[in-house]
Amino acid sequence: MVIAIDGPAASGKGTLARRIAAHLGHAHLDTGLLYRAVARAMLDRGLLLTDEAAALEVAESLDPARLDESRLRDATMGEAASVVSVHAGVRQALLGVQRRFAARPGGAGLDGGDIGTVVCPEADVKLFVTASAEERARRRHGELLRKGETVSFEEVLADIRGRDERDAQRAAAPLRAAPDALILDTTHLDQDGAFASALELVGAGRAG
Ligand code: C5P
Repeated sequence: MVIAIDGPAASGKGTLARRIAAHLGHAHLDTGLLYRAVARAMLDRGLLLTDEAAALEVAESLDPARLDESRLRDATMGEAASVVSVHAGVRQALLGVQRRFAARPGGAGLDGGDIGTVVCPEADVKLFVTASAEERARRRHGELLRKGETVSFEEVLADIRGRDERDAQRAAAPLRAAPDALILDTTHLDQDGAFASALELVGAGRAG
């Protein structure tokens, strides 16, 4: 049983994917972490994120079992991941890891941007989680303020729009809802409301 959960930056897809996997007893993989880890390793080695050959080498030598999440989570790394994720070779290099994860016998939930379209086109259920750019920026801005960062709402909104644009426009596996994905718009939902709606959709998707 494979559940694919895609969506744009700050849509809440990661939190939802984790909760759904825990609820169903599935393993969960946040595939954004793989792209973030490639970007982090490149920056640590002083490499340019736009250097496709270097990015490919880093992606091929990535050990997904040894990701240091604490160094991958911040907004800068999300942006850097978006830059390396444009390289088709990097996407190809990370495909095997993701597909092997999806093949786990106990069931798997993967979240990202191309899970339903490219990584697991045969997934049993596909959700595309979205929310307006303003609402996503409002949530992200709140998180940053709580962490003590001083950043304006307008800056956060501009970053979100920039990332949406790059992710949706890239030639290789652009961020997109699969034609058979169930759309969950969380603009007017809180986290528990989004989780309840997601479970309903998962139930409907499994039945259908
Ligand atoms: O989901 P997260 O914010 O961690 O993803 C960071 C970036 O990694 C995304 O903006 C996207 O560019 C890239 N990514 C991707 N394909 C995935 C997951 C993430 O291209 N399956």
